[in-house]
Amino acid sequence: MDFSSLGFGYIKAPYRYVCKYKDGQWGEGYLTEDDTIVLSESACVLQYAQTCFEGLKAYRTANDDIVCFRPDLNAARLVSSCKRMVMPPFPEDKFLEAVKTVVMANKDMVPPYGTGGSLYVRPFMIGTDPILPVKPSGEFEFRIFVSPVGPYFKNGIKPLTLRIADYDRAAPHGTGNIKAGLNYAMSLYPTVEAHEEGYDENVYLDPGSRTYIEETGGANILFITKDRKIVTSKSDSILPSITKRSILQVAQERLGLTVEERKINVSEISSFVECGLCGTAAVICPVGKIVDQSHQPVFSADMDKAGEVTMKLYNALLDIQLGRAEAPEGWIFTVGK
Ligand SMILES: *Cc1c(COP(=O)(O)O)cnc(C)c1O
Repeated sequence: MDFSSLGFGYIKAPYRYVCKYKDGQWGEGYLTEDDTIVLSESACVLQYAQTCFEGLKAYRTANDDIVCFRPDLNAARLVSSCKRMVMPPFPEDKFLEAVKTVVMANKDMVPPYGTGGSLYVRPFMIGTDPILPVKPSGEFEFRIFVSPVGPYFKNGIKPLTLRIADYDRAAPHGTGNIKAGLNYAMSLYPTVEAHEEGYDENVYLDPGSRTYIEETGGANILFITKDRKIVTSKSDSILPSITKRSILQVAQERLGLTVEERKINVSEISSFVECGLCGTAAVICPVGKIVDQSHQPVFSADMDKAGEVTMKLYNALLDIQLGRAEAPEGWIFTVGK
């Protein structure tokens, strides 16, 4: 395995974990080398998208342990996604065991410390029953596959340019707060359009009033004020990012920064001095520019490098994740050696 040339695509690892739900209960989970799933053409997931997923990383720390960052929160978030999708929650302790099992089975694919790479872990669940009328499946498959990925910032940390989308990501009281595939299906069209127009990503507004900043298609957003306060969106229709929750805690407890979680009006973002996107993949990715629906800049910052506070937050969380700084209790889950 050449870890230095890894990008961000799917690479087939030797093993995946599978567990099936039938007759009202989860069976024994097992590892398999089979990367295919055979389904009825009328399976609920294929016709009505009854599926949800999680995303986390396993990586090597400075002491060469293989660890995951707060996977208990992924387990809990999957439960809330399952409930909303009328799927049987996968038990949280079983989830952690499964992550451990599948990562250790593929441990030769975990990139070494220092390469910046990691083993991306993708748990997901699908409704497998053949159905025709719209109704929930009765049988399900939970699966975790892994894929080695390279460092997110391979060519240096480069600020992104975002556009405020004319499309909505989630309906009020809809599914914006769960990790369901359907939230991504509908984002494909606006994403392709944004790329065609030369932007990296869309920023979505609150679907009710289209006045407040929500998040992008796959990451939460935060801003920094002139006096170094962190301002981040509060809304029922954004996905509760584990990375963001961790960054906010570290910012307050370790860096002594003030955090405001509140509605952010589009009209105020020009007054902010830094902006970043938070998610598992990048930790925090700086944003250099945001334009509105008529391509007019509404936020501008350095396009060559990340801002000072953004960089501080990035380094503080990365040091905790990689074992270079002491982690708050329970944040680092040891998978093995
Ligand atoms: C997964 C995801 C995030 C990031 O969540 P993390 O737990 O930090 O990886 C943010 N927004 C959306 C829409 C997501 O799907």
